Amino acid sequence: MFTNRKELLKLCTLSGTTEIGRNCNFVEYGDEIVMIDAGYSFPGQEMYGIDYLIPNVSYLKKNKAKIKAILITHGHLDHTGALKWILPELGYPPIYAGGFAKALIEEKMREYHMLDKVKIFGVDRKSQLRIGRNFQATFIGINHSIPDAFSIFLETPNGNVFFSGDYKIDLTPANEPQTDYDKLRQLRGRIDVALMESTNASNPGKAPSEKEIFENLTELIKKQKGRVVVAAFSSLITRLYSLIEVAKITHRKIVLSGRSLDQAIDIARKKRYITAEDSLFIKEKDINKYADNELLLLCTGSQGERFAALNRISLNEHKYIKIHKGDLIIMSSSEIPENISTIGRMTDRIIGLGADLIKDTIDLKIHSTGHGNQEDMKMMYDLIQPRTVMPIHGPLTFRYFNKQNFLKWGMRDEDILLTDDGQTWMLDGHTWRKGKKVESKPILIDGLGVGDTGDIVLKDRKQLSEFGMFVTVLNMNVKTKKIIGRPRFISRGFVYMKGSQELLKEIENLIFDIHHDWERQSQNSKTFKVEDFKDAIEKELSKLIYKKTEREPIILTVII
Ligand SMILES: [Zn+2]
Ligand SMILES: [Zn+2]
Repeated sequence: MFTNRKELLKLCTLSGTTEIGRNCNFVEYGDEIVMIDAGYSFPGQEMYGIDYLIPNVSYLKKNKAKIKAILITHGHLDHTGALKWILPELGYPPIYAGGFAKALIEEKMREYHMLDKVKIFGVDRKSQLRIGRNFQATFIGINHSIPDAFSIFLETPNGNVFFSGDYKIDLTPANEPQTDYDKLRQLRGRIDVALMESTNASNPGKAPSEKEIFENLTELIKKQKGRVVVAAFSSLITRLYSLIEVAKITHRKIVLSGRSLDQAIDIARKKRYITAEDSLFIKEKDINKYADNELLLLCTGSQGERFAALNRISLNEHKYIKIHKGDLIIMSSSEIPENISTIGRMTDRIIGLGADLIKDTIDLKIHSTGHGNQEDMKMMYDLIQPRTVMPIHGPLTFRYFNKQNFLKWGMRDEDILLTDDGQTWMLDGHTWRKGKKVESKPILIDGLGVGDTGDIVLKDRKQLSEFGMFVTVLNMNVKTKKIIGRPRFISRGFVYMKGSQELLKEIENLIFDIHHDWERQSQNSKTFKVEDFKDAIEKELSKLIYKKTEREPIILTVII
């Protein structure tokens, strides 16, 4: 009975809808599927030992014969990081990505020894692809914080879907063309639903241009007589470009500290997005060969990440970079809310070591987001004028504000669809109806689970080399489960025992408290699991030790 009717168009916001991270959506028509993005997210702090969360692809796995392509909006890991795990499950469907994203993905695939299996094709601002029998994809150049970022317009015989990707409208981008306004305008009247990112939906006004940031940084650094240390996100490639240009203008050599920065700049130079002579870069170990006013240090760790360069510098533990009076630290970054207190402690230490510090403020913009504020969003909306929109890429509060914006700009309530991870939507003639949910609970990647022991070993080594090891030896009576005598402690590379009597006393008390609780619980449940006792000690000790020393040694407990 459906022979003369077109088939229903199905859209699924599989993942990354309700947060910033783990983006993955797909569109299904007839016996064909096209996926958009495959990113990962980082686990919450309570998920010990979990490295990443990736989209649940059980539905796609069941239908893998249908998958014709994975289209990538841009190279950030919240849009590409899950490919490593997803591709083998889905039988390596072809990937289409902009030049920069392609280079980043290939680099990762090489690292994982998967490059020979991956089929990846480059796209550019002119690309329009026929995919399978039912799809046509148009890539539209936009500005974000990484080169070659795209919105994607996907046409099918029974409806068209627009994916904004991450974007801002930059009227003076630093080193790339502006958003392709004409192409966006041509989509008017043709978009049945637009999936719009919501990251900065509650920020009024216009996101500052990268050019403005570049000029402010230049002025600021020009005036300095001492060393300048800039903390920046290694994923904000446009900022790295600006900083390298500033170094050239101010006749400073660049010192890179942080592996992710090295990698990002390496790829940007290979892609000729950043052009710089090798002589512009000097190694960390050589910094003392240069005068202070000849140096611009770029480092990772703007969020106070424990092992990143800036934090090690602040703890005076960096092998080569020691802060001294006259240094200026510039935080060319935003503060992610959950990191604010950690960042505060780090900047306290930096100032304590005698450096000056400058943060991004309203008066002096030295950081700009890659995600548009309300005015950018309004400009995008005016250009494309979609029939319906779906706010995505943000927690409900962000999407709620995004919805308020669309209402303010004249959209009807029923044309703004709030969706959820795993939710499917069917386009039936003119209206979108909710379909069945597909499995969407994120998959936890704990390194070990996917045979990646190497990563864990590396992590341990890193922790050992940074913070050493702390061992507690307990003597326990096998029958009564009482602790005999006092605990003994062994420290290697962590603290000098004789100088830490107070801390050791506290640790000892904590161990007796934990033992007491464990004993009581075990008596109640009539099972004595020594492993649980050990786990509790290691967990509580790492908390206490971090609180007291801001260090994280490997903690081991031996019960004899
Ligand atoms: Zn992004
Ligand atoms: Zn994103």
